[in-house]
Amino acid sequence: MAWDELTDEQREIRDLVRTLARERIAPRAAAIDESHAFPWDIVELFRENDVFGLFFDEADGGLGTGALLGLIAIEEVSKVCATSGLILAVQELGSLGLKLAGNDEQKQRYLPRLASGEWICAYALTEAGSGSDSAAMRTTARRDGDDYVLDGSKRFITNAGVAGLYTVFAKTDPAAGHRGISAFLMEADTPGFEVTRLEPKMGIGGSTTGELAFDGCRVPAANLLGAEGEGFTIAMRILDRSRPGIAAQALGIAQGATDYALEYAKTRETMGKPIAQHQLIQAKLADMETETEAARGLLYRFGRMVDGGADDAELTKASAMAKLKCGDVAMAVATDAVQILGGYGYIKEYPVERYMRDAKITQIYEGTQEIQRLVIAREMLKESRAFLLAETV
Ligand SMILES: Cc1cc2nc3c(=O)[nH]c(=O)nc-3n(C[C@H](O)[C@H](O)[C@H](O)COP(=O)(O)OP(=O)(O)OC[C@H]3O[C@@H](n4cnc5c(N)ncnc54)[C@H](O)[C@@H]3O)c2cc1C
Repeated sequence: MAWDELTDEQREIRDLVRTLARERIAPRAAAIDESHAFPWDIVELFRENDVFGLFFDEADGGLGTGALLGLIAIEEVSKVCATSGLILAVQELGSLGLKLAGNDEQKQRYLPRLASGEWICAYALTEAGSGSDSAAMRTTARRDGDDYVLDGSKRFITNAGVAGLYTVFAKTDPAAGHRGISAFLMEADTPGFEVTRLEPKMGIGGSTTGELAFDGCRVPAANLLGAEGEGFTIAMRILDRSRPGIAAQALGIAQGATDYALEYAKTRETMGKPIAQHQLIQAKLADMETETEAARGLLYRFGRMVDGGADDAELTKASAMAKLKCGDVAMAVATDAVQILGGYGYIKEYPVERYMRDAKITQIYEGTQEIQRLVIAREMLKESRAFLLAETV
């Protein structure tokens, strides 16, 4: 291991993804943002180079290289294109339900297709009336013979219309609050399911974000994940492990924006010298780099915790802290990058305005920054109580 504490294998794979990102994805990034079309060519690139495999165990058709390397791959791709980084993050988000709660038959049926990238997947929790308060969802699932019949809708679902498999949450017992929620695996061609709307957005232009409608949608009972009523717990366990994927996207945006601003500052001259020689610009660059490195510390720590076998209870706070720090750093750093480029930062010929628009969503999805703070504080309160009891007993 070198100073960066990556193994030779990890560094080799990171460098491979970095090269793909720089040579094949970066030249497409502006067009992906402008076109608002899902970049299937990037999916194909990931398939050909087994990049999806980084998120799956060998037994499930993946590479088994661990959580840290998956995060690093999302970071490397997001340095040049946050939409493409999100494709990887959501392949993890949409498959975690299967990995954490799927039975052997379900895993064998779906995980190899997700590990190869043959199928893209999605995670459908949010509804028009329930985002942060996800337990207030209104979509229902009623058992009918060998099926569950789903009725209702979901909003803001990433990969709507391009996913082959959706993890859908619905209430099997609406009177039981969050204990009445169940999780289902739903294939895209299930009768009674339709994507009814795609949202125009501020950023991540190539990613689809859509509304799903379920109208008497019959999902086989064999596709129930875990037991009835376990859906909310599954949803939260998934988010504990998937939020760092968004943190990695944010970190990539922050580093990409910093790197671009640095190169620009070396060549743009004012008052007879490159702006990189002005101390106020240097201070900005120094803060951008330092904050980004600090955020990386929290994120990689999470990856190492997972790879070291940390249990769910230990991951909750570390995951929320990584998401909170990386998202806030991405927003601040991307905004500073625009400032360093001056007027050029504000126009589309330069990529930093895209970084700034893309950074904003990392403070919102997979739990807003306010929700991350609530989670962190809740975990702190639990820890402090345990400490006090230990001291006084
Ligand atoms: C582009 C995009 C992609 C998305 N992808 C997915 C996806 O793939 N799957 C999915 O299920 N969802 C997805 N979402 C939904 C996203 O996770 C939610 O939008 C987010 O969780 C916030 O929910 P909300 O929009 O309903 O806001 P609200 O919950 O209405 O929150 C509004 C504001 O109030 C604050 N707030 C809410 N409750 C509290 C509280 N208790 N204390 C303090 N402040 C609070 C919030 O932080 C926020 O600032 C996506 C959203 C977008 C925009």
